[in-house]
Amino acid sequence: MEDRDLKMLEHGSPILQVAVELGIKVKSNTGLCFRSERHADASGEFTLFFDLAKNSFFCKTCSDVGGNVIDLVCQCQDCDREKAINWLKHRIEFDLETRELYYQKNKKRKRK
Ligand SMILES: [Zn+2]
Repeated sequence: MEDRDLKMLEHGSPILQVAVELGIKVKSNTGLCFRSERHADASGEFTLFFDLAKNSFFCKTCSDVGGNVIDLVCQCQDCDREKAINWLKHRIEFDLETRELYYQKNKKRKRK
C-alpha cells in the first residue's frame, strides 16, 4: 500500500468514531482502555486520550498502548497491521455504500 493511500485511509477513519466502532467506551476525548485489566487500579478510569487533530491516541497507564488509527485497530483487535488496514478499508467502503443507499432512499422517499 502506498503512503498516499495510507493517508487517505487515515483521513477517512476519524479515531473517535473508529474507537466507538471497536467497542471502546468513549467520553468526549477520552476512553476506557481496552487493556484496562492490566491497570494496577481497575477503577474504570478513562485513561485513553484521543488527539483528534493528529488522529492518534495513547493510554496514560499502558506504555505500549498508543499510536495512530491503524495502531488502534491492531492493538484493540490484537491483529497485525495488514489486517487492521483491511478492516479500515472495509469500514470506509461499507460507510460509502450505506451512505449511497441512504441517499437513494431519500431521493425516492421510500420507507422501509
Ligand atoms: Zn491502558
